[in-house]
Amino acid sequence: MNEHETIPAWHRPTRIRFGPYVASVHTAEGQLEEHELGQIEWGGHDPKIHLKPGMSWVQERSTLIHEALHLADDAAALGLGEEGVQRLEFALMELLDKNPSLFYPLT
Ligand SMILES: [Zn+2]
Repeated sequence: MNEHETIPAWHRPTRIRFGPYVASVHTAEGQLEEHELGQIEWGGHDPKIHLKPGMSWVQERSTLIHEALHLADDAAALGLGEEGVQRLEFALMELLDKNPSLFYPLT
């Protein structure tokens, strides 16, 4: 698959669930600073995850995993912080890329 293909190739989840959280996923313009790819807008048990519109699906997936890890970090008190979340994001992306059968059922 072409890395620069945009999202229809990838089915972006509309919600990310972890622990008490059900976060909705948004890609509207104007929600993020210029340099940001993603951000969580915290608010009770239904925070919003904002993603920069127009990213490649590979970048968007990585960014969404990053934001989902922030949810997990908070809900499960993992103590990752920004640096730990970033390192785990990259580790998960490498595992996913090199071992797809670890994550997807074989057809
Ligand atoms: Zn972060």
